[in-house]
Amino acid sequence: MNVYDGERMAEMMQEQGMHAAASREEADLVILNTCHIREKAAEKVYSDIGRLRRKDGSTPTIAVAGCVAQAEGAEIARRAPSVDIVVGPQAYHRLPSLLEEAKTKTKATDCAIDTDMPANSKFDILPDRPRQPRPTAFLTVQEGCDKFCTYCVVPYTRGAEISRSWSAIVDEAKALVDGGVKEITLLGQNVNAWTGEDDKGVMQGLDGLIRALDRINGLERIRYTTSHANDMTQGLIDAHGEVAKLMPYLHLPVQSGSNPILQAMNRNHSVESYLAILEKVRAARPDIALSGDFIVGFPGESDADFEATLDVVRAANYSQAFSFKYSPRPGTPAATMKEQIAPEIMDERLQRLQALLNEQQFAFNRGLNGIDTNILLERKGKKPGQFVGKTPWLTSVHVIAQNVGIGDMIDVHIESAGPNSLQGRVIERKAA
Ligand code: SAH
Ligand code: SF4
Repeated sequence: MNVYDGERMAEMMQEQGMHAAASREEADLVILNTCHIREKAAEKVYSDIGRLRRKDGSTPTIAVAGCVAQAEGAEIARRAPSVDIVVGPQAYHRLPSLLEEAKTKTKATDCAIDTDMPANSKFDILPDRPRQPRPTAFLTVQEGCDKFCTYCVVPYTRGAEISRSWSAIVDEAKALVDGGVKEITLLGQNVNAWTGEDDKGVMQGLDGLIRALDRINGLERIRYTTSHANDMTQGLIDAHGEVAKLMPYLHLPVQSGSNPILQAMNRNHSVESYLAILEKVRAARPDIALSGDFIVGFPGESDADFEATLDVVRAANYSQAFSFKYSPRPGTPAATMKEQIAPEIMDERLQRLQALLNEQQFAFNRGLNGIDTNILLERKGKKPGQFVGKTPWLTSVHVIAQNVGIGDMIDVHIESAGPNSLQGRVIERKAA
């Protein structure tokens, strides 16, 4: 979502007559778009600010945007006086006026701060999407979260759950496709909680929206992330079996394989209900690739709780997954829970979990070896004539190909599989 927000900010600045600088030294304005989800990400902004000082000792105009801006507000300007603007994730459409305000700065420590969550949505004010540099694009459909998992800052930094309107999303998707995009990934902190009225006034869920986007000519692939188990409706599961453009990939985090830990996390689902959803999704789309997120070392996590997480990984069988050490976040209930876990125990658990997840990823990749499939070429590879594309299951494929370009869909035969990517050979294009 930060990538998406960053693109929208850059597009807005372009509309203001700015253009991207060739290097950091040459930039008059630098916007640092920040993440507050774990402490490491949040602290990074301060070292990044330090690195913006130019050789001659001057600094560009510095704006700190994103969730660190939202959470820390004026504290950022106090810790880093060279910062000129602090703007939260729901207020960045006001960047042009904040820039004007920053120009009137009289003291080095003055800072224009906007951490409002205004009622008028930024999406109604941001410029329309221009032509895109890539064949894949993100599209935020839902923001914020009302679930309040006890470890998580998102409900505080991104605010309450809101769904963008049907027409705004369909229009943006069409503009992206007109601008050369072939694949759209719908985004939301709880993307599958999206609801809204369609153009006939009928209430729809994410599956209805996906079915509408499926009808856009020129759009080839649809993905969505991140979903919550409790919003995984039968309609959305069915869509995986029925909508041709909906790719066979589902990112559905479980966080832990232990019911007492899930309860302490306030996840409101059990390991059993999570696995039951995976079973239904696999029934609808047998080849679906599954992905997830895991937190190790949540307060109170025993050896047995952690072993249960390894068990759920074995039961789910992921094609890839993200795993993190629990990071206490200020203001969240878990940060003050007793029984915080020692860092060396977290390290050891993370290593064991990642070893298992890597094994599963490699096994998934090997399972694709020898098949014919289609890939969307996303970028050039390092070797001459080489391209990198993605399979429907989101695996990267390296292929040497002539007479093709980025954005083309080509058919390939998978010749070998590595832990992180596949090698393919071009096969004759099938008639559409
Ligand atoms: N809404 C999504 C997740 C969004 S946050 C969901 O509920 O599944 C992305 C991921 O960051 C989470 O899935 C979680 O695994 C991780 N995360 C969030 N807060 C964290 C914390 N305090 N420490 C470590 N990891 C965290
Ligand atoms: Fe955070 Fe996701 Fe839980 Fe919301 S559902 S509080 S975004 S982890």
